[in-house]
Amino acid sequence: MQVQTIGVIGAGQMGNGIAHVCALAGYDVILTDIAAEALEKAAATIERNLDRQVHRERITLDERDATLARIQTATDLAAMRDADLAIEAATENEEVKRQIFAALCPHLKQGAFVATNTSSISITRLASSTDRPEHFIGLHFMNPVPVMKLVEIIRGIATDEPTYHMAQEVVAKLGKVPANAEDFPAFIVNRVLLPMINEAVYTLYEGVGTVEAIDTAMKLGANHPMGPLELADFIGLDTCLSIMQVLYEGLADTKYRPCPLLVKYVEAGWLGRKSGRGFYDYSGEAPVPTR
Ligand code: NAD
Repeated sequence: MQVQTIGVIGAGQMGNGIAHVCALAGYDVILTDIAAEALEKAAATIERNLDRQVHRERITLDERDATLARIQTATDLAAMRDADLAIEAATENEEVKRQIFAALCPHLKQGAFVATNTSSISITRLASSTDRPEHFIGLHFMNPVPVMKLVEIIRGIATDEPTYHMAQEVVAKLGKVPANAEDFPAFIVNRVLLPMINEAVYTLYEGVGTVEAIDTAMKLGANHPMGPLELADFIGLDTCLSIMQVLYEGLADTKYRPCPLLVKYVEAGWLGRKSGRGFYDYSGEAPVPTR
């Protein structure tokens, strides 16, 4: 099946970025979320990010307008009936994703493809909660989606060749670069990145350095563009914790034990940028370290 219409489920930071790049590449996009406010916020974010691209002369005003005209939003999964490919980008929680696939599949046309943007959860296991494991694949976009070049492509045990070729074609049309990863917990990028972030939280927890010292050390000492705690806030501390739990449980190795301070922050609702507070406080003009 030729992909012309892409459905995106979950309109958070990743969902709005995926909708943005798909519409800009010429696909018709249906963006859905259970929360109407999330859709309103996503539409405003997409418009703001497109305006920024116009301002930087990356796209024209006509391209901006055409991109916005290609995106529809809905709170009902029945809107996915026209999708040739549905990309799930909801909260990083296996139960939530399984429920979404169970509710989604009856609305999809026969032969439609399903992808997940999960950061860590087994593609094979998620595929088994759909009625089409052979047409299911992992498409792991990076944050922020309009800026980051990479998409990890992860095949489950049942994923067939046409689905893999479709994924390669879509990634190429979006102007992104694919990297194939096997279906192991957290794939490649997060298998390497998240233990580093978790270790930075341990460094803070044990008092080795302050938030500012840890981030400065890694920016100037390891040449990272963002410090690990700044990056954790950017990813979302709930997502970071979920990924560490998947690594810890999936690989059964204590080296992946989530730092208790990360657990505590998530329990407090301090989820990083998206909630206004994480390792930094975002309520003022500039982020202020909290420890
Ligand atoms: P987010 O918290 O910003 O957004 C999640 C969205 O999912 C919310 O708008 C929420 O309302 C919606 N949602 C929750 N339950 C739903 C349901 N049943 N049906 C429809 N929508 C539902 O999270 P995010 O950072 O956008 O992450 C989304 C996915 O992308 C996760 O799987 C995450 O692991 C993955 N991801 C995140 C990053 C990152 O840096 N944040 C990077 C790559 C991949």
